[in-house]
Amino acid sequence: MPSAVLHPKSVYDISNLIKYIFDIGSFSEVTVAARGHGHSLEGQSQAYQGVVINMESLTGAEMRFHIGEYPYVEVSAGELWINILHQSLEKGLSPKSWTDYLHLTVGGTLSYAGISGQAFRHGPQINNVYQLQVVTGRGEVETCSEEQNTDLFHAVLGGLGQFGIITKARIALEPAPRMVLRIFNDKLLQPELLSGNHLTRVSRLLTG
Ligand SMILES: Cc1cc2nc3c(=O)[nH]c(=O)nc-3n(C[C@H](O)[C@H](O)[C@H](O)COP(=O)(O)OP(=O)(O)OC[C@H]3O[C@@H](n4cnc5c(N)ncnc54)[C@H](O)[C@@H]3O)c2cc1C
Repeated sequence: MPSAVLHPKSVYDISNLIKYIFDIGSFSEVTVAARGHGHSLEGQSQAYQGVVINMESLTGAEMRFHIGEYPYVEVSAGELWINILHQSLEKGLSPKSWTDYLHLTVGGTLSYAGISGQAFRHGPQINNVYQLQVVTGRGEVETCSEEQNTDLFHAVLGGLGQFGIITKARIALEPAPRMVLRIFNDKLLQPELLSGNHLTRVSRLLTG
């Protein structure tokens, strides 16, 4: 069990906590873990006798959409992907890369990779982020991207929460497809069925 849970209302609540612990010095054994939706399977978002930061309490802020040649949405890291999908669809857009299960947070999946059926086309979610706001291990609030603070950007993406706490992300969007087809049929994956009539039927379905 953690000793305390922080329910931050702003990025500064997180940065003040981390600064405070950092300033105590290296003899402090207090550990800190960010918690998204708590769906990692080995207690990675727990901090034994430390402080857990409940990232979902940051989600009050509005999502900010940028519509242009490279559309994106800027969201709190505690936001669930399902909410991002619903709000982007209202603008005819959708994230380029999703997870198959959408009740996971942006910070939680960007700390792993974020894999789904679209990963073969666009790469995992960590390949589809333009910019991050991160609280570092010293409690500083930094912006990072491919062009700015590049080392921090690449360390935090897929970094299992060990290189900083993601507080905001700019997620790449694309025009939403008008229709998607989801196939739930294990038999389809059997090699003997991946031939002849079956394939023709599936390809007819896919091409409409
Ligand atoms: C039912 C289910 C379905 C799943 N489906 C998929 C899927 O389709 N695709 C896929 O890729 N994965 C999937 N996963 C795995 C899932 O992506 C990871 O477990 C993910 O990390 C969980 O997200 P979360 O929001 O629950 O994060 P948490 O479990 O709360 O946190 C995960 C890790 O990230 C760290 N972390 C959380 N937020 C932040 C932050 N803001 N900044 C820095 N570090 C942070 C935590 O400390 C922890 O180490 C699934 C898991 C479950 C249980």
